[in-house]
Amino acid sequence: TGGLVGRGLVKRYRRGVETVSALAGVDLRVDAGEFVALVGPSGSGKSTLLALLCGWETADEGELRYLGPLGDRRPETFGWRDLALVPQALGLVGDLSLADNVLLPARLRGTAGTEGPRARALLTDFGLAHLADRYPSQASLGEQQRAVVARALLLRPAVLLADEPTAHQDRGHADGLLDAVVEAARGGAAVLIATHDELAWARADRVLSMRDGVVTEGAPS
Ligand code: ADP
Ligand code: ADP
Repeated sequence: TGGLVGRGLVKRYRRGVETVSALAGVDLRVDAGEFVALVGPSGSGKSTLLALLCGWETADEGELRYLGPLGDRRPETFGWRDLALVPQALGLVGDLSLADNVLLPARLRGTAGTEGPRARALLTDFGLAHLADRYPSQASLGEQQRAVVARALLLRPAVLLADEPTAHQDRGHADGLLDAVVEAARGGAAVLIATHDELAWARADRVLSMRDGVVTEGAPS
């Protein structure tokens, strides 16, 4: 048991004199062990929803609850084992190699030694083994993105959120990423991925559609 539940989530942004409702009353639930794909046109509110769910933003209205052991904690205290986000803007540390970026969550916990083999396995699975010593600026966007997903998966987070994680990938690498995401869900993670990738919808347990700041069950018609 774990995951998250949102009820009536509203988020407004001011744009000049106008107020834009990026989220106009979102209800959703993602359970532990579930891989949910979130589909919607650009501007429909997907990134805003992920920012809320990972604690980067707070809702103007509504309730967001984490389930299971996370439910007793405040989101500010969540670490990489609790919740990991793959942002659209990636956010690798520029002066660390790809390998060190992947290992970073373990370094911060003082468990880099025990997590080393898993970090190397993820680098290999994602076709990054030969690039382990490169810095992010020496890697392609797709390679950087795979390193970010590997970093997010390293400590087997209870909640995994990702914004278009296959956006910069060819079909083969996208498949590899999706394999790892499915495996994370099978291992008990609650997984929510915003994606335009129809292959990701096919691999997901459930698809949610987002339009004008509202989430509905099922693929877009
Ligand atoms: P998506 O991820 O589906 O493309 P977003 O969540 O980025 O959608 O955006 C939803 C709406 O909220 C859009 O109209 C966008 O312009 C607006 N928006 C998002 N972030 C901000 C912000 N920081 N300031 C003002 N408007 C924003
Ligand atoms: P804990 O030991 O409480 O599990 P971690 O060692 O996982 O904490 O996290 C250490 C630091 O790394 C945190 O203070 C936080 O700032 C940062 N951090 C943890 N998880 C994430 C995440 N998912 N995304 C971005 N930064 C994170």
